[in-house]
Amino acid sequence: MDRRSFIRTAGVLGAGAAATGLAAPAIAQGNITWRMVTTWPKNFPGLGVGAQRLADRITLASGGRLTVQVYSAGEMVPPLQSLDAVIDGSAEMSHGAAYYWQNKSPALSFFTGVPYGMTTPELTAWVRFMGGQEIWDEIYDQFGVQGFLSGNTGTQAGGWFRDELKSVEDVKGVRFRTPGLGGRVWEKLGATVTNMAAGEIFQALQSGTLDAAEFVGPYNDLALGFYQVAKNYYMPSFVESGLATELVVDKKKYQELPDDLQAIIRDVSQAEYDMVAADFIANDPRALKTLVEDHGVQVRNFPDDIMEAGAKASVEVIEELRNSDDALVKKTTESFIEALNLLRTRTEKIDAPYTAARQKYLKY
Ligand code: CA
Repeated sequence: MDRRSFIRTAGVLGAGAAATGLAAPAIAQGNITWRMVTTWPKNFPGLGVGAQRLADRITLASGGRLTVQVYSAGEMVPPLQSLDAVIDGSAEMSHGAAYYWQNKSPALSFFTGVPYGMTTPELTAWVRFMGGQEIWDEIYDQFGVQGFLSGNTGTQAGGWFRDELKSVEDVKGVRFRTPGLGGRVWEKLGATVTNMAAGEIFQALQSGTLDAAEFVGPYNDLALGFYQVAKNYYMPSFVESGLATELVVDKKKYQELPDDLQAIIRDVSQAEYDMVAADFIANDPRALKTLVEDHGVQVRNFPDDIMEAGAKASVEVIEELRNSDDALVKKTTESFIEALNLLRTRTEKIDAPYTAARQKYLKY
């Protein structure tokens, strides 16, 4: 038996002994088990898989000293009570999306993504190098928890529409499933917006309760079967670019861990941000190919007037946050806008002209 598998086995045995109540408290043995609740179904492409992999990597990297036990959506608590489970101490970790907790602070939306917001690399640049993490810590300090970026879906698809959209006029009255601040932008364009859980969308599209719906992108949407009832697949989502997931930990218990275990949690989360993003970047185009070639899906771009009206409505939504009475919401919004205005000079002067030229000239 090599050293690592010996330590792993010892970790499992240690945890088992602690569970019988016969051994000393787990922490005294150097082996502890943390419970991670998630907002995702088990094995859900990209997201549920990412949560499980993050947990497994912490367990492995710590040689079993910190074992993370994953509870998928509904296994311990309903998905949208994951953060509360950490706050009330029934779990030590939550894997989900910060914008699910907008009722705790609207500023949390920025750490998942906001309409016409940052791309995947821009968001991580703001959080890690431009003051984002420090503000995020201030927000979560109010609840005794700490957040880390833990994944990113990339820019999402705009949605599945039963009828083709020729102009912004066609948005009026469309019954569209899209949540959060993005939903408020679509409302401003004239859509009738509703939110519902992933598992309910297909039925609502099929029965005609919805005219349109968005969830994430090809990788997830293929699995959910939307192509069977709506054939117009619009790109890109201008309200959900570069959406991040988070790992939230109980801050007091986190700070009581030895430095190396704290570093493992922090660094594995950082590595998983890139890992999950790579999963979506690799598997979205594969799924899109299947949707087009096997299921006759029509991929379309939104008409320009929708993209333009969407930008105007997005500014209105963000300006409401900037004018908030809550000083932390105002501060977060201002930090985000300042960072975005700097980051976009690179994205729009270097990356965008490059991809535009590649699209135009490169032929294999
Ligand atoms: Ca979405």
